[in-house]
Amino acid sequence: MGFNIDLSTRLKKLSPYLFVEIDTARKKAQQEGRDIIDLGVGDPDQPTPRFIIDALHRASLKPQTHKYALDRGFPELRIAIARWYKFRFNVDLDPDREILPLIGSKEGIAHIPLAFINQGDTALVPDPCYPPYNSGVIFAGGEPHKLPLLRENRFLPDLRHVKPGVLHKAKIMFLNYPNNPTAAVCDKSFFKDVVKFATKHNIIVCHDAAYSELSFDGLKIPSFLGTPGAKEIGVEFHSFSKMFNMTGWRLGFAVGNPAIITALTKVKANIDSGAFNAIQMAGVEALKRVDKVTKNIKSLYQKRRNIFVDGLNKIGWDVPRPNATFYVWAPILKRYTSASLAKELLERADVVVTPGNGFGQGGEGYVRMALTVSESRLKKAIDRIKKII
Ligand SMILES: *Cc1c(COP(=O)(O)O)cnc(C)c1O
Repeated sequence: MGFNIDLSTRLKKLSPYLFVEIDTARKKAQQEGRDIIDLGVGDPDQPTPRFIIDALHRASLKPQTHKYALDRGFPELRIAIARWYKFRFNVDLDPDREILPLIGSKEGIAHIPLAFINQGDTALVPDPCYPPYNSGVIFAGGEPHKLPLLRENRFLPDLRHVKPGVLHKAKIMFLNYPNNPTAAVCDKSFFKDVVKFATKHNIIVCHDAAYSELSFDGLKIPSFLGTPGAKEIGVEFHSFSKMFNMTGWRLGFAVGNPAIITALTKVKANIDSGAFNAIQMAGVEALKRVDKVTKNIKSLYQKRRNIFVDGLNKIGWDVPRPNATFYVWAPILKRYTSASLAKELLERADVVVTPGNGFGQGGEGYVRMALTVSESRLKKAIDRIKKII
């Protein structure tokens, strides 16, 4: 009899991780020798700033960094995060109780449902969304309840129309502004509504602020924790990945309500042993020069955004100009679905985009394009896309 490898129900429940599928199609096209412009995965094309690499090098020479990281992370990093939060958002955080370094924010996002979700509990999750919100909830035995993000609501969930039966079972909710994939931003008044809603229904808020430092035209993105009452009910996730071009390093952090942070610390203490100490030390140096680095990154993407969006509009594809993130969330052209347009763009224009429905059914009708290639490649992409308009 053959050996039977039977996957768990939780794994079977997941839709295939979207970026893997797209990457496979891209690789196949490249193996055929085609010059592919990849606007698919949102991974910065620029290197990590040199001074951060130097800081890692110096720190890695110190033997004490070679040991297990302490359970709440490197104290100096927590202090540096508290200082940055005060300076940037005017939010006070206690480095010992309200800050937790993560092995990338995705790690914390995927693990936090384990702290609060029981079998059959519900989590409110935006649709479309960054995929780990759904998978984390499913791994914890919970049911994601989708909150549609519609263009007519500026891609904000309509909190007034969540059904009482759902509210009753919901224990946590995920939010993400500036938003991936829609590139939407929200203002402080939306956060106020969220605090009111979540307090009333006793729902823990997990706000993902991975793109807080990637906004354009001088727009200043607020912190969820800057909202009165937010720290009573929620946490905010941040990442070094997009802020400093450090996706491969795996460093992020969660900040906010001390009881929620403690619960996540407990989950993690049983799963991992923290981010490499030397990377945490390099993170301290990165935060010291955050303004200079993010200014350069913002201006790079802002230029690319202008070139790409203007170019698309000129060839007759009417796409909105994003105020933040490095994504363009483009309504599909008539006669296509998200998937058929993505396929057509790869087959006939050698351009990789992400079909919107890969972020959930609510993303149908859109494709996401990442501005993570050079200006000249973006111009070339426009020339090629012209053929299928
Ligand atoms: C890129 C991204 C992150 C960052 O993940 P890391 O694990 O810190 O690299 C988090 N949330 C969203 C919405 C993202 O797009």
